[in-house]
Amino acid sequence: MITKLRLAIRNDLEAAAEARVFGSGWLSGVLALVLGGSALLLLLAHQYPAWFSVEDLEAVHASPYYMLGVQALALAAFALACVNLVLRRNKILGFSAVAFVLMTTTLGAIGAQTIPGEGINFGVDWFILNLLLKGLLFVPLEKLFSGDKPQPLFRYEWREDLLYFLISSLLIQIMAFISLAPTMAILKHAALWQSLRDAVAAQPYIVQFVELMLIADFMQYGFHRLFHQVPFLWRFHAVHHSAQAMDWMAGSRMHLFEILLLRGVTIIPLYALGFDQSALYGYIFFVYLVSAYVHANLRFKDEGISLFFVTPRFHHWHHGIEKEAIDVNFAVHFPWIDRLFGTYYLPKGQWPSGYGIGGHPVPKGWWAQFIYPLQREKKPVPEPAE
Ligand SMILES: [Zn+2]
Ligand SMILES: [Zn+2]
Repeated sequence: MITKLRLAIRNDLEAAAEARVFGSGWLSGVLALVLGGSALLLLLAHQYPAWFSVEDLEAVHASPYYMLGVQALALAAFALACVNLVLRRNKILGFSAVAFVLMTTTLGAIGAQTIPGEGINFGVDWFILNLLLKGLLFVPLEKLFSGDKPQPLFRYEWREDLLYFLISSLLIQIMAFISLAPTMAILKHAALWQSLRDAVAAQPYIVQFVELMLIADFMQYGFHRLFHQVPFLWRFHAVHHSAQAMDWMAGSRMHLFEILLLRGVTIIPLYALGFDQSALYGYIFFVYLVSAYVHANLRFKDEGISLFFVTPRFHHWHHGIEKEAIDVNFAVHFPWIDRLFGTYYLPKGQWPSGYGIGGHPVPKGWWAQFIYPLQREKKPVPEPAE
């Protein structure tokens, strides 16, 4: 029953282009489903914070506007679902959205119940805010700037990447905790270089921000390259490169181990050098947007700017299926770092013809990809001796 329902929803989401035109009820159905689902999950996070809410969002939950926002989402979802039900013959999206709205209002009426629980929670609220924020920003941008390669929102393997997006959002707390552990151990000795830390924090905000970008990108370049060149590490990073369609969500496809290792190492100097907290958090938010931006299907003319700053085309070549695209363009902010180390590749005005790894060795599905690097590599069968 659930499987049938899921399949029916998926089929309508992935409907052919002519069944998705404006006025077909498709857009209202998709929006109703996203907003209705968001309202339900945000309500759950609010009522059962011990399970579903990230502590850092406590202030958001305390605001009187939180529930108002949830109600507004549910109301908008209901209105859009009505539009879908009127316009579209296949009413699965509209009905599912109405079901979400009904669940939200029923649960909301039952009221808050506190569940005792402490320690690590799942960031359901973070997932929804993350999805709404990035989606609102990048979906319209991709519609406007996809050039001659427009791509449906529900493109090849969108469910896989959404699952990556969901799992890393849910695990945000535990991931942050683990990846900050080495930094915290080092910060215990920070008194030894306190005068340097004070000098760093005293600089103007913008100077600190640029320094953060430089330090992080040099660190990131080195480790990213290591992930490409050490076979054991490559098997983890290959998961990220297995994406065959690129958009704002494709960058979330990343093995948990890689996230932990890469983050755990690159943030050490950022914290240890004592940058002002507002500059550091500002930079972390910036990187959060950059990771979606460099993977996004944004095909604007980047001739001048791509000399100084990484553009989507630059990182798309990092993912390109072409021979020339292997082990190039490791930087995430400054392409000239790749020039410096001889790994720069950006043919004028061109885009890769496809994405992924030649032969597509990485299996499909989140779990299969999770255990893929841990499995022993299949040895090629030796040729029988003559
Ligand atoms: Zn890579
Ligand atoms: Zn990437």
